[in-house]
Amino acid sequence: MTSALQAVIGDREICLGCGGQHVPDSPDTWVQWGRWRFYPPFYCLCCGREICARQFAYGKCCGICDMGACDPNNSVYRLEYAHEHPSWWRPFGNRDEMWQAYVEAVGGVEVEIPTLD
Ligand SMILES: [Zn+2]
Ligand SMILES: [Zn+2]
Ligand SMILES: [Zn+2]
Repeated sequence: MTSALQAVIGDREICLGCGGQHVPDSPDTWVQWGRWRFYPPFYCLCCGREICARQFAYGKCCGICDMGACDPNNSVYRLEYAHEHPSWWRPFGNRDEMWQAYVEAVGGVEVEIPTLD
């Protein structure tokens, strides 16, 4: 199975989504976040580039954005990593609103979360 996220570097096949070595996400791979279940493709919340399920589950952002290299307020800011934000992006403090916009943009399956009572 090939994926746009896989690249051959030297004699290794690397996942560009997380930098690791793993098989591409199958279509039935999912990541649960709150009451939403997401399926491939997954996208960086900050810059919108495609990432893999592992990276999405870990940080919801690509590695560059996750460490703040794209953020002028961060000391690791690098001009070459500056980017436009995708339609779902919201300023800090608007997490719920951002997730709502992300779900509307990419889809997601709402699942009932069982309670303990
Ligand atoms: Zn990966
Ligand atoms: Zn990103
Ligand atoms: Zn970013």
